[in-house]
Order: sequence, then structure tokens, then C-alpha cells
Amino acid sequence: MWQAEVRVDLDAIRENVTRLRAGTTAEVMAVVKADAYGHGMLPAARAALAGGATWLGVCTLDEALALRGAGITAPVLAWLLTPGVPLDRAVAAGVDLGVGGPELLAEAVGAARAAGRPARLHLKIDTGLSRGGAAGGDWPVLLEAAAKAQADGAVEVVGAWSHFAYADAPGHPTIDRQLHLFREGLERAERHGITPRLRHIANSAATLTRPDTHFDLVRAGIAVYGLSPVAGETFGLRPAMTARARVLLTKRVPPGTGVSYGHTYTTERETTLAVVPLGYGDGVPRHASNSGPVLLGGEVHRIAGRVCMDQIVVDCGDTRVRPGDVAVLFGDGRGGEPTADDWAAAADTINYEIVTRFGGVRVPRVYAGDQP
Ligand SMILES: *Cc1c(COP(=O)(O)O)cnc(C)c1O
Repeated sequence: MWQAEVRVDLDAIRENVTRLRAGTTAEVMAVVKADAYGHGMLPAARAALAGGATWLGVCTLDEALALRGAGITAPVLAWLLTPGVPLDRAVAAGVDLGVGGPELLAEAVGAARAAGRPARLHLKIDTGLSRGGAAGGDWPVLLEAAAKAQADGAVEVVGAWSHFAYADAPGHPTIDRQLHLFREGLERAERHGITPRLRHIANSAATLTRPDTHFDLVRAGIAVYGLSPVAGETFGLRPAMTARARVLLTKRVPPGTGVSYGHTYTTERETTLAVVPLGYGDGVPRHASNSGPVLLGGEVHRIAGRVCMDQIVVDCGDTRVRPGDVAVLFGDGRGGEPTADDWAAAADTINYEIVTRFGGVRVPRVYAGDQP
């Protein structure tokens, strides 16, 4: 490492997937959207497949086509498709489409004609997240249209699916309510002659805490990267990402020294400040100003003052720290470093956002472990 790096342990990704597989009889879809939550889509996808995932999940058509372009032939589902995206390319590339409304269904039928083969669909029912999917009376309307398109040979309904609003709180009553509506939606599909091979609703949290939600396929994202969706539990997962940088400069300063923009931090005593070349342009949340933890010189210290675009200043007290020393922002915690969970707490966000933000372009991403 010259200056800063995001290190991704592909063995951890592979092992996390293997662990998820061991906990279910369902197939495992590794969700690799948003550049695999900042971990790098292609290496992460390959490691997840090596760990036993049989599906990959993405949001956009571009993400799906990038997987295919890299020669990945595993089943791929893309579910964030706006009207007008060239679905014929998805159909031609054998990408499954998440469809939650009649407009997209109509476009999928058109795309199937253009591509000369049926579009493979996963029909989405909104059971209470109020985001994607057909809710209430729109579900039978979607089923009706899908049944007709299937009879015409234009589409093949491969899946029916939904998404939880509150699975990270395992006892939350919305989980049972959504599960009930999902089962009802599946029965309704049956009555329209639609019997999808893959019924799926579980995200990582439900995969780890609610086996009764697994059905035929679970869609795991955050757990694949070793982070827990449920506060206070690790489920034996191992975080794959480490963010670290070398100290640029240290200085000994007197009490009363204002630090970084706006002087929101003032030293209380004589202390050593270390400048670390990572900032919000690299993924460090500005909300972690005066709070983000950093392992440096064998101890965890805090960011002093505002996070800048390119740098942070860490108050190291009397710890011996020298330019070139390695500062670890977060990792799997085994070396005493903070974790993405610690950073999430410091920045008032979730671990998902911490790792995903570090997927930017400036910090080199390096891979450890087997690269399948
Ligand atoms: C992102 C996403 C997932 C994965 O969620 P995790 O909480 O990271 O496991 C699953 N399904 C859908 C529809 C998603 O958008």
C-alpha cells in the first residue's frame, strides 16, 4: 500500500456464502448490486458463486450486462428497471427481470419479440414495503396480464417475490403480516395458472433469523460481505472489507489548538495529531466528524474535527505515531481495529452505507484470498 487502500478478502465472501447455504435448504442468491456494496462486483460475484451461491441479484440492467460481459453465466435477476431501458438486451443475455407493474410487463413482451425468445420474469408483489411491486388489487391485474403473456409464449414466469420492510427487527409484527400477504399472493397466482418455480422474500436478516421465510431462494446482500443486518449479532460472519491508509504527517501541538475546518475540535492538552489521507471523497462519512474511530499505534483514537474531502486528522494523545504508520479505519475487528458497525454508530448510519461508500474510484481496491 502506497497511501490508502480498500482491501477485500474474497475468502471471507466465499465462506460467508457457504455459511448462509448451510443454514437453509433454499438456493442462495448473492446480491451484488452497487458494485457489490463497494466490494467490487465481479470478484465478489465469483467468490460468492464459489461459495455456493446459485443466483446473482442486481438492480440495474447495466449491472446485469456487466456480469454477462465478464463471462458469468449463473442466473442473474435484475429488479430496478425503468420504462424505456433496452430490455431486449437483457432477454438476449438471459437476464431474468423483476417485474412489478403492467407497463414493464408490456415492455418485456416487446423485448421478447425483439430478442426472439421468451422473457424470464419474477413477478413482484408489494406486501408492505410500499416500494416496488404490485400492491392490493394491482397484483391480480399483473397476474392476469402475465398469464396471458405466458400463454402467448412471450414470457416465462420463473419467480414470484417480495421484500421485507423490517426484517432487521426479527420479532417485528410486519414480518408475519408480510409473510401472510405473500402466501395469499402466491395462492392468487396459482388461481391464475401461475406456479413459479422460485418464490422468494428473504433478505439477509430474514435468511439469518427466519427460516420460515426462505421458500425456494433467499436473497442475501449484506451478510455475503460479512456484516450483520441485526444489531448486536454477528451470526459467525466475517467482514470482508478493510479500509486503511498510511499516516501522512504527525505533529505535536499545545492545548487549545483548533483542528480542521471550522475548528469544531480544540485540543485539551498537549497531544499528537496524525493526518490520514482519506476523506469524504473516498467514502469517509462527513457525519463521522469528531467521532470516527481509527486504529493507530495499537490504540483506537477518534477523528479530531471535520472530515475533509481528502483527509482526516486523528488525535492520538501520547501514543507514538510516525508518518508512514498504518491507520486502520475499519476491518473485521480481529486486529483490534474498529468495524463498519463502529463507523455506522459514529456516523449515525448503517454498516451497509459505510462499506458501499468506500467503493469509489480514488482508493485502490486490492483483493486478498482466492480469486476464483
Ligand atoms: C438489496 C436487496 C436485497 C439484499 O438485502 P440485504 O439486506 O443486504 O440482504 C434483497 N432484495 C432486494 C430486493 C434488495 O434490493
